Amino acid sequence: KEFHNEADTDFVLPQNQEWARNIVKKWQFTKDTEHKIVPVVVAGEDITDRVIVEAIDKSQLEENILAGKFATANAQDLQKAVEVAKADLDGWRALSHEQRHKALKEVAKIVRERRDDLIGIAAAEVGKVFIETDVEVSEAIDFLEFYPYSTHYFEKYKNLQFSGKGVGVVIPPWNFPVAIPMGGVVATLASGNTAIIKPASAAALTAYEMCKCFWDAGISKNTLQFVPCSGSLAGEHLIKNEDVDFVILTGGEDTAATMLNTRANLFLTAETGGKDATIVTSMADREQAIKNVCHSAFSNSGQKCSATSLLILEEEVYNDENFKKALLDTAKSMSVGSVWDLKNRVGTLANKVSGKLQKAISTLEDGEEWLLEPSYAQNNEYMLKPAIKWGVKEGSFMHMNELFGPVLAVMKAKDLEHAVKIVNATGYGLTSGIESLDEREVNYWRSNVKAGNLYINRGTTGAIVLRQPFGGMAKSAIGSGRKAGSLNYVTQFMNFTEISEPK
Ligand code: GLU
Repeated sequence: KEFHNEADTDFVLPQNQEWARNIVKKWQFTKDTEHKIVPVVVAGEDITDRVIVEAIDKSQLEENILAGKFATANAQDLQKAVEVAKADLDGWRALSHEQRHKALKEVAKIVRERRDDLIGIAAAEVGKVFIETDVEVSEAIDFLEFYPYSTHYFEKYKNLQFSGKGVGVVIPPWNFPVAIPMGGVVATLASGNTAIIKPASAAALTAYEMCKCFWDAGISKNTLQFVPCSGSLAGEHLIKNEDVDFVILTGGEDTAATMLNTRANLFLTAETGGKDATIVTSMADREQAIKNVCHSAFSNSGQKCSATSLLILEEEVYNDENFKKALLDTAKSMSVGSVWDLKNRVGTLANKVSGKLQKAISTLEDGEEWLLEPSYAQNNEYMLKPAIKWGVKEGSFMHMNELFGPVLAVMKAKDLEHAVKIVNATGYGLTSGIESLDEREVNYWRSNVKAGNLYINRGTTGAIVLRQPFGGMAKSAIGSGRKAGSLNYVTQFMNFTEISEPK
């Protein structure tokens, strides 16, 4: 009953490079690729005679190639799914924790074998580069090994009886198309509940590949059901349904708010974004700071809740021309392009630029200028290259809004205290970073900055299960605020009964 984090692939080894080239061969689709329809999976059935969505292959837009097709659930499917999940037809909830642990270990085995396929489908469907999905697969395996393990903690309390709450609905985002759906489903199942997953439309195919690992490991299609559908249909027929005992959401604050308006007594646990900052003080190792910031800001095109989108420089660093030039050079050197070309560090955006991101790249407010102007690689409107806006002011649009794109805002602070004020003013509280080699500065920062995950002299992304339990506060979290990948995460989905008798 020990837990160890899964290792990522070492892409430097020649045999792994060969393995990666085989992923390209298998998953780089052409116009002639025939795709089977990915079904809705409800009540043990694969259902395909529904409205079909064609998913564009984000990695090769110019050819208008498909990454696949999926069927979408209708209202009756959703109602049926909840009935079946409640009835627990295959007795998942009646199993012992030991038995569930064993079943999930089997899933982990399959996920290990299908690391390549999960990387391949995520590359085609959301344009994510191999190394980025690779760490997601490791995290997915960690969830499978860790959440069941964390329930063993309670076994020492002999008078404590515990079981799942009942039916859990998982609503993940598209930006971590493997790890986040996996985390929600495993937390639900490991704590003794049946699960329904409503995948993000932009990442439904990848979520299906993930679900297949469960079904092929012997967990039934009654225990885990798969229902791609629109948000409004899910609101009406999943969220509103009183037989749904809890919802795990990773998504926007507005989605969380809509859900709570739809059903006031909903047990919702939600991670709702961030406007994350890294502060660089004059006591920083500046080279190291630039490397960490560029990775945190631009990897996965900045489409991470944990991404650094504010770079707050102490005045002396702000005025350091060498720092400015090195930051520019490093950002420029991150090659953006097709995920099938393995040298590219950044792939495609999952959605066309719109809304706040569009506003951020097309406007300059008072005092702002481009250090690195936004532009597209290969004239492809999904391949936005890293951009850096210099001179962003407090209270501006760039300071206060989550963009979910590769646009970094640089701000000046007169000292550390001022920098921390700028960070806290966003109202979010997910991740935060500091670059400083001075312990007193670090201590001041860690006691005053408001965020759930603090990173000292390293990037703000890439939390690892159990080592960096992940989750925020303030505008970044709704519900329990428990951290994903922590020992007590699953307890929120369980009921505990204390039993006493005279002895
Ligand atoms: N857990 C991820 C990380 O640490 C972020 C997840 C998210 O974007 O929601 O980078």
